[in-house]
Amino acid sequence: MTHFFNKKPLIIAGPCSVETEEQVMETAKQIAALKKVDVLRAGIWKPRTRPGNFEGVGTKGISWLVQARKETGLAIATEVANAKQVEDALHFDIDMVWIGARSTVNPFSVQEIADALKGSKIPVFVKNPINPDIELWLGAVERLEKVGIEQIGLIHRGFSTVGNPIYRNPPMWNIAIEIKRRMPHLPMLNDPSHICGSRDNLLDICQTACNLNYDGIIIESHRDPSQAWSDAKQQVTPTALFNILTQLEWRTEDDSKLMRDVNLNQLRQDIDHLDTEMINLLSKRMEVAKQIGLFKKEHKVTVLQSNRWNEVVERLTHLGEKSGLSFDFIQNILQEIHLESIRIQNNL
Ligand code: PEP
Ligand code: MN
Repeated sequence: MTHFFNKKPLIIAGPCSVETEEQVMETAKQIAALKKVDVLRAGIWKPRTRPGNFEGVGTKGISWLVQARKETGLAIATEVANAKQVEDALHFDIDMVWIGARSTVNPFSVQEIADALKGSKIPVFVKNPINPDIELWLGAVERLEKVGIEQIGLIHRGFSTVGNPIYRNPPMWNIAIEIKRRMPHLPMLNDPSHICGSRDNLLDICQTACNLNYDGIIIESHRDPSQAWSDAKQQVTPTALFNILTQLEWRTEDDSKLMRDVNLNQLRQDIDHLDTEMINLLSKRMEVAKQIGLFKKEHKVTVLQSNRWNEVVERLTHLGEKSGLSFDFIQNILQEIHLESIRIQNNL
């Protein structure tokens, strides 16, 4: 069993890509000197969205990683996307591999990787697929379990989108929380670099991951980020990485101390009462929606009444904002309520 696999927090850092022997070695030395990182990450084979970009140095880069391990004591990790890459990684005794987001999305690729890994003891981390599909993510884990891989972990790197002004791959925390609920035994790392796509907000994302009880992070760091051959905008220097890692506040999920506090118990009771009221209110609301639905049916009026719905949304968004609820929250919750009303009225 690999020693770092169950460490919490597990910190993995390194450049997006292996570029030159000197770049890997220098970056690895600076990262090791922080004394806060367990594993050096670096891509040897790079999945690029468009052809013609730097596609990785290929197999020769592995020996540079191995040399970096020898000189720094850091374990080494890289991405694998097909059987040949797995064979090379195993041949050179890489300490950990991960399956990238563009591979997780494709069951043929995942199966090929799993088959090539069969019989090996290497820890394998599975990045979320580029689309927010929990079943695909779980399916990749199951394919690895089936070939007998024992140390399997998850990496949450966010989900593809268009035109999000803040994130390259918005985190959609709900998806990560759900897969954690379904597979609580798997360690889950957060990859703030591919979520942010820039050097901004990395600390915020890492801190949210800590608050959500993640087991560690995997983050991109390069000795000279702006000159990096891939993902130049999101990599940070080892010094900036040090600042992030020292500011991060890891928390424990163990709430036994809180449980002994009477005030907290009172607050939790308050929440329970409010939640019960909320469900009762929603149920009453749906009962009224049903009666309205009967009128619509009788008079052959469409279930969807856009003007009326606009009025409702406008009034409640305004009210919500005055009460300190965020715009997005109100919008999301109203959409769900509206969909349920529509479902009930459709079924009449
Ligand atoms: C990477 O880790 O450099 C990478 C290509 O990530 P992803 O699969 O999340 O896009
Ligand atoms: Mn990258």
